[in-house]
Amino acid sequence: MKYNLKKSVNNKILLPDELGIELYIKRDDLIHPNISGNKYRKLKYNIEEAQQLNFKRLLTFGGAFSNHIAAVASVGKKFGFNTIGIIRGEELEERIYENPTLNFAKGCGMEFKFISRKDYRNKTSKKFIKNLQNEFDSFYLLPEGGTNGLAVKGCEEILTEDDARFDFICSSVGTGGTISGLINSSLPDQQVLGFPALKGNFLKNEIIKFADKTNWKLIDDYHFGGYAKVSVELIEFINIFKKNTGIPLDPVYTGKMLFGIFDMINADFFPKGSKILAIHTGGLQGIQGMNKLLIKKNLPILAI
Ligand SMILES: *Cc1c(COP(=O)(O)O)cnc(C)c1O
Repeated sequence: MKYNLKKSVNNKILLPDELGIELYIKRDDLIHPNISGNKYRKLKYNIEEAQQLNFKRLLTFGGAFSNHIAAVASVGKKFGFNTIGIIRGEELEERIYENPTLNFAKGCGMEFKFISRKDYRNKTSKKFIKNLQNEFDSFYLLPEGGTNGLAVKGCEEILTEDDARFDFICSSVGTGGTISGLINSSLPDQQVLGFPALKGNFLKNEIIKFADKTNWKLIDDYHFGGYAKVSVELIEFINIFKKNTGIPLDPVYTGKMLFGIFDMINADFFPKGSKILAIHTGGLQGIQGMNKLLIKKNLPILAI
C-alpha cells in the first residue's frame, strides 16, 4: 500500500493537496494515561451508578491484553472500589508477571479468577453470574468490553459541536458501544464508519440495539484475520504512521482502522472535499504485550 502520509499538525494529518481530503484524529487516547480513550467514556456513568447504588466491588471479564481490564482496575483504584477480573485462559494464572496488562491490573489491586475458554463462553448466563455472586458476594457487573446503556451514554460525549463540520466519523469497533454513542451524537447528514477489529456478523445487531440513527456502515475488510491478529504490513504501517505523524496507534483497534482509512483513500472511496474525523480510542497499553508475542514469533515489533 502507498501510504501518502507526511506529518501532522494539531492532529490534522497532512495529505497530498491533490487528494482534496482533510483527515483529523481526535486524541481520546490522551484522556488519561491508564484509563485511555473509549474505556474512560464507557466507565464514567457506570462508576456514578455503582457509587449511587453503594456497591463496593466491580466485576468484569476480559482476555490477556484487554484494555477494559486495565481500565477497570485503574478506575477501581482511583475511586475506591475492589475489582475482580474474570480472565479467559487458565494458563495465564502462572504468567501474571509476564503479562503487562495483568501485571498492571494486579498492581492496581485487581483480584483475578482465571477460567477456561469453554467456561468463558457462558459468562453471560444466569447460572454463571449466580455462581460468581456466591463466590464474591455482591458486585456491580460490567459486561465484557464494558458495553451497556450507560457506556453508550458516555460515548455520546466523544463528539462535540465543533465536529459538526466533518462528513465522515470513523471509529474502530469491538463490541459496538463506542460507535453507538458516536451515531447517537452525530448529525443525520454525517456518515459514521465502523471498522470492526474482529470477524463476525453479530456486531450489526448489537449496534442496532443502542443506535438511534441509520447513518452508519461497517467496513469489514480490515480485521486482519480476527481479534488481535496482525500482519507484518499492519505493523509496518503503524510504525511509519508514528514516525511521520508523531501519533502512536495500537495494533488491535486504531492501527487497523487507520490502515483501512488510508487504503480507502487510495481506492478513492472518499469524494474530493471530504472531511474525515478518525477517533483515536486509545488502547496503547496493549503494545507491550503484543510486542512480546511478536518477538516470540520472530516478527517485526511495534516502535515504542
Ligand atoms: C475497546 C476498544 C475499542 C472497541 O470499543 P467497543 O465499544 O467495544 O466497540 C476500540 N478501540 C480501543 C482502543 C479499545 O480499547
